[in-house]
Amino acid sequence: MQPSRQRLPYIFTSMASTVRTKARPTIREFDLIRALHRRHGRRAPSVIQGIGDDAAVITSRAGQWTVLTTDLLTEGVHFDLRTATMSDIGFRAAAANLSDVAAMGGTPQYLLVALAIPRTGTRQHVLQLYRGMMAACRPHRVRLIGGDTSASGDGWFISVTLVGMVPHRKALFRSGARIGDLLYVTGTIGDALAGLRLLNEPPPRARRHPRTGALSARHRQFLIDRHLHPTARVAEGQWLSALHLATSAIDISDGLSGDLRHICEESHVGVDLDLGALPLSPACVAYATSRHLDPVDLALTGGEDYELLFTASARQRPRLERTALERGFSLTRIGKIHPFRFGIQAVSSHGRRHRLPNTSYEHFT
Ligand code: ADP
Ligand code: MG
Repeated sequence: MQPSRQRLPYIFTSMASTVRTKARPTIREFDLIRALHRRHGRRAPSVIQGIGDDAAVITSRAGQWTVLTTDLLTEGVHFDLRTATMSDIGFRAAAANLSDVAAMGGTPQYLLVALAIPRTGTRQHVLQLYRGMMAACRPHRVRLIGGDTSASGDGWFISVTLVGMVPHRKALFRSGARIGDLLYVTGTIGDALAGLRLLNEPPPRARRHPRTGALSARHRQFLIDRHLHPTARVAEGQWLSALHLATSAIDISDGLSGDLRHICEESHVGVDLDLGALPLSPACVAYATSRHLDPVDLALTGGEDYELLFTASARQRPRLERTALERGFSLTRIGKIHPFRFGIQAVSSHGRRHRLPNTSYEHFT
């Protein structure tokens, strides 16, 4: 899309010729797109037209629904270039979208990426960003089929759109939880928040109490990696959908407490959450101990773990737990669905019961 001339903060070389007073790294828009096409625009039989025309054209298969999701990442709001590389940012952007498709029980297929690049952005930055994105996509054979490129007057904007499919009537929605269902979560939660906090901590020498830094290098690396390189639970979502095991599902992007609330609201049910059962990694527990925090708080409020939170009918429990074991999926039962009037309650490991506060992150507040 061509922006109006007068509003342009600065101009890409392909858009217009300008006299520049200051030297700065130049990005040639069409060279850049060609490079992205060459590196990442791999062909697939279902792609009739990928990068290189006005729009991409794909074939759709009979008996499939199309799943679509998009995410916008803004520099300073969603990422900080002082603590993450462009490749890390790309990986996380793609993983967030893959996770959305996973939570619908779908198979991710095609990627579109729109970029606004600031003055300070270079061709290398963009290539690194795509390297990260495609690294997250590669295991799922997701194809890059298009995007858009613009200049930005203020920081990076990265919009990632993912297209996928799911067989008719097999999509998993937030609205399907029923009274009596069991609540499950994949993997471990709280790790990504611990990793983010570690990245944002001042270096040990600047800290007032250096002794609180006692955390093994291995745990530290694990947590940071969980933040920078989350795994979307695509295979788990497909399994839940294909075997009709789940009644509802969501991915944990805002934190368990907030995302569980979404299931309850959309399904018009209440829930009893067992805090003592929450799956915590040894690294998350070690981090919490070293910082005098409760790891359960990290697990409740920490977003961006990209684990799947889902409900299943109690009747399915044996089949669910057996097939998870067979496939090597890590799964924990953490609660039970109640009538709406029950509300959202949690029981601590000491048996103390309370209402769960809403801690999800909201923009503009
Ligand atoms: P248009 O003017 O029709 O928007 P563009 O010149 O922006 O066309 O894009 C040309 C082709 O390059 C299209 O296929 C578009 O999808 C693709 N493309 C543009 N920017 C990107 C990008 N950042 N990543 C991937 N593909 C891109
Ligand atoms: Mg365009």
